[in-house]
Amino acid sequence: MRKGDRTTAPDIPCAHPDRPRMHRNACSACFSLFHHNLHREKRLARARKRRKERYATEPEYRERLKANSRRHAAKQTPAWSRWKKLRTKYGLTAADYSRLLKQQGGKCAICRQPETRVNQYGPLPLSVDHCHKTGRVRGLLCLLCNTGIGKLQDSPKLLRAALTYLEKETK
Ligand SMILES: [Zn+2]
Ligand SMILES: [Zn+2]
Repeated sequence: MRKGDRTTAPDIPCAHPDRPRMHRNACSACFSLFHHNLHREKRLARARKRRKERYATEPEYRERLKANSRRHAAKQTPAWSRWKKLRTKYGLTAADYSRLLKQQGGKCAICRQPETRVNQYGPLPLSVDHCHKTGRVRGLLCLLCNTGIGKLQDSPKLLRAALTYLEKETK
C-alpha cells in the first residue's frame, strides 16, 4: 500500500446517516463491526490454537470435550434428528405428536389408514402436515395422502375440481 492510499480507501458500508461519523464514512458501531469481521479469521485461528493447547495439556478439559462429543454422537439417531427437525421447524414436541396421534386414533387424517410405508429403520411414522404459508401444523397424514394433497398444491379449490372431475368421469 502506497502512502496516502488510506485516505482514498472506500467507505465502510453504514446504514446510519443520523449517527456521527467515525472513520471512512461509518458510524462507530459499523466501524468496529468492520474491524471485528476484518480480523475474524485471525481471531478464530487463535481460539483454535488455544483449544488445541488446552486439549494437549489439560486432562480435565480433554475429558470434558470427549464427554461432550460422546453425548452428541449418542444423540445422532434418526429418531432424534426427526424430533429435532419437527421441533425447530414447527415447534412440535414429541408430546404434541403423540397427542395428535391419539386424537386421530393412530391413523391418517384423510384415508383413516395407518402408515404402511417403511424405510431401512422400520415402519414410517405418520407425516406432520403443515400449512406452507403459516407453518401451522394441520394434522398427521400418511405419506401418500400428504404427497397427494401436496401435488394439488394444498388447494381446496383444485381438490374440489379434481373431485368433481372424478365423479363425473368415473362411472
Ligand atoms: Zn452505521
Ligand atoms: Zn392417508
